[in-house]
Amino acid sequence: MSTQPVPTDAAAVKAADRAHVFHSWSAQGLIDPPAVAGAEGSYFWDYDGNRYLDFSSQLVNTNIGHQHPKVVAAIQEQAARLCTIAPGFAVDVRSEAARLIAGRTPGDLDKIFFTNGGAEAVENAVRMARLHTGRPKVLSAYRSYHGATAAAINLTGDPRRWPSDTASAGVVRFWGPFRYRSPFHAESEEQECERALRHLEDTIAFEGPGTIAAIILETVPGTAGIMVPPPGYLPGVRALCDRYGIVLILDEVMAGFGRTGRWFAADHFGVVPDLLTFAKGVNSGYVPLGGVAISAEIAATFEERPYPGGLTYSGHPLACASAVATINAMDGEGIVENAARIGEDVLGPGLRELAERHPSVGDVRGLGVFWAVELVRDRRTREPLVPYAATGEANAPMAAVTAAIKAAGLWPFVNMNRVHVVPPCTITDEETKQGLAALDEALTVADRYAA
Ligand code: PLP
Repeated sequence: MSTQPVPTDAAAVKAADRAHVFHSWSAQGLIDPPAVAGAEGSYFWDYDGNRYLDFSSQLVNTNIGHQHPKVVAAIQEQAARLCTIAPGFAVDVRSEAARLIAGRTPGDLDKIFFTNGGAEAVENAVRMARLHTGRPKVLSAYRSYHGATAAAINLTGDPRRWPSDTASAGVVRFWGPFRYRSPFHAESEEQECERALRHLEDTIAFEGPGTIAAIILETVPGTAGIMVPPPGYLPGVRALCDRYGIVLILDEVMAGFGRTGRWFAADHFGVVPDLLTFAKGVNSGYVPLGGVAISAEIAATFEERPYPGGLTYSGHPLACASAVATINAMDGEGIVENAARIGEDVLGPGLRELAERHPSVGDVRGLGVFWAVELVRDRRTREPLVPYAATGEANAPMAAVTAAIKAAGLWPFVNMNRVHVVPPCTITDEETKQGLAALDEALTVADRYAA
């Protein structure tokens, strides 16, 4: 029997939270976190009876929805059998998770190094690349996010890096393709791709190819704006890496495990990286888990030589059990296929239709259940609804739009001047249409600021 008092109202939960919880990414005195009472499938709800359709998938991780019964049962069964064991032991549930993941990652990425989340996966991928090549530098893209730990935040190419940017040694940034706001001023997708690849090759040449261990890229950059690259870009980056002996790291922490309508976003482009980082969707975040999928060649580097990395909880049995159950449910219930179909038949067409009717929508882009709606003051000039990295008063229009979306019963993922539409991969047609209708209503608030 539980000895914990169970709060029954929002005020009690909020007071307890306020007393001792220090929240991430927040000014502690300026936030009022909603008190969540429960969740199921595509919804969560608070103590006051407000029910939200979760178009954020939390932090774009609940790909299988909330409280999937098979995943909950797998965690319970594993807890009863073996809660914890150090990473150095061979355990059935860990090897099964690794087998299932390796069976879905592209090419020969057949060895899995487990971590507790995405940033730690990025840290280890970079360490593996440096040790494998004996080279120091890493190239990473502007308009990217790779996590909040020391190396990962320094690889990040957006304002979240600015307050922590004290140790970027060895990191060189470049621009990827993004026609809507491109530094390359291209007139076609092909030209954008060509110019972005030329810029990357010039960067490699000027940095010294023999000094570069890795290029790290989000296959489809997520929090920076869901920018689907032109078809030739990633194959072009792969060719540059091959030419100069550089390790290609694709960061699929957000885009992986069904989000784009394929197991991995790399599958859309026919590209096999040397290292692939994952987290979030691997088990929908039911227990913290991430990892690095490693090519045969890089794995061979560490056959005779120890790999210097790992944490106490790497490959935790409860996390691995939830990954096994998640992947099996995704297979058995056609969840990846559902994400692809929803994107093509319902979400994509629905969002494009909203773009036609709302003057504040400058651009809509994405695939699967991974979409961004970019809001502007002026469609012609593409002036964003709020300035880059706006806070406080300057961000008021986006705060108003976000409040309107929540008031319509939809929980969005909002970043800068964009609403990211990232529901669970399990979302139904009906729920998607309901979310689109709520967004339609809320966008009238954005329209008031638009020309
Ligand atoms: N990489 C990408 C592409 C991400 O989107 C994120 C988180 O959003 C991370 C890495 C960091 O993952 P975590 O927050 O699990 O450390």
